[in-house]
Amino acid sequence: MARLESRRPRRFRYSAAAVSETSPEAARRSSPTRVYLHPASTGHQVPRGFPECPERIESAEAGLRRLGWQLVERPDDSPDTQQRALVEAVHTPEYLARFEHAVARGARFLDGSDNPISAGTSAAAWGAVTTALEAARATLAGETRHAFSLTRPPGHHCERDRAMGFCFLNQVAVVAEHLLRTTDAERIAIVDFDVHHGNGTQHLFEERADVFYLSLHQWPFYPGTGAREERGVGAGEGCTLNLPLPAGTGDEGFLEAFEDAALPALRDYGPDLLLVSAGFDAWRGDPLGGMNLSAQAYCRLGTLLAELADERCGDRLVSVLEGGYDLAALADLVDAYLAGAAGVRYSRVSQ
Ligand SMILES: [Zn+2]
Repeated sequence: MARLESRRPRRFRYSAAAVSETSPEAARRSSPTRVYLHPASTGHQVPRGFPECPERIESAEAGLRRLGWQLVERPDDSPDTQQRALVEAVHTPEYLARFEHAVARGARFLDGSDNPISAGTSAAAWGAVTTALEAARATLAGETRHAFSLTRPPGHHCERDRAMGFCFLNQVAVVAEHLLRTTDAERIAIVDFDVHHGNGTQHLFEERADVFYLSLHQWPFYPGTGAREERGVGAGEGCTLNLPLPAGTGDEGFLEAFEDAALPALRDYGPDLLLVSAGFDAWRGDPLGGMNLSAQAYCRLGTLLAELADERCGDRLVSVLEGGYDLAALADLVDAYLAGAAGVRYSRVSQ
C-alpha cells in the first residue's frame, strides 16, 4: 500500500455547541461506554422468518440492560436539514426519493427480495443514521469514551443508489462524511468485522484517501466483493484493505489476521478517528454466517480496537451495529465486545 506517514494523535474541536459541563476526562471516566437506541428501529417490519428482524434489537436491548450497560434512547425526531444534507452526500437524491416513494406507496420490497420494506422502514433507517451521528457527537464532546449505536436496519451493503443486503442507508459512511466536514479530522478509518464484506462502504470511499476501509470477512461469500486485490482506486489506492478468510475460520485465524495484517495497516494509515461496522454474524452460532468465532474473540477485538483508538484517536471509539442474527446470542456478543473495549476482564460466559 502507499505508505502514509503516521502522525501523532491530535486534539479535536467539535463544531456543535453541546459539550459536557464537566471536563471531558472526568465525564469519560464516569461514563466510559454508552449504548444508543432509537425507538423507530423496531418499526421496520419484515416477513415472518426473515433474519434481519425487530427482535434483534429487542433481545439485544433487554440483554444489555440486564448486564448493566448504560442505554440511551434517542428521541423519535425527524432528521434535520444538516442530517439530510449528509445523507444526500452519501446517497443520490434519486435513490432517496425512490426509497421514500416505495415506503409511502406500500411496496413490499426495494431493489429485490433481500430488502423488505414496511411503513416504518424509512423512519428506522433514518433513525439509525441520526443515532450513529449522536453516538459520534457524544464521543467527540467527551460525554462518553466509547459509543455503540444499537439500531437497525444495518447499512454497509447499500450502495450510493440502491438498497442491498438488508441495508437502506449507510450510517457508518454518513458518520465518516460528517466527521470529515465538521471536525479537524483529516483521516478516518472504518473497520468492518461483519462476516460479510461491506461492499457499499468500500465503493463509497474507494477513490478517496481520507477514509481507510478495512474489512475482514468470509470468502467466497455474499456479496461477492472484497477480494484481497481490491485495494482502492486512483487517489484511494492503498486505502482499502480486504482480508478475506475461509468459511470455518475460528478465533485463532481471525485474530491472527487482525493482529498481523489489520492493525499494522491501520497504524500505517494513522487515522484521526476510528469507526467500527460491528457485525456479529461471524459468531459460530450465527444462522447466516459460516465462520466460527467465540464471544471471546469479540472481546479481544474490542480490546484491540480500543487500544488503537487510545493510541491514535484520542481514546474515542464509535461503533455501529451491522449484522448478527442469532437472537439468543446477540446481547452477549455485543457485551463481550464492549467489555473488551472497556478493558473489563470478560468472564461472563464461557462461549
Ligand atoms: Zn453480515
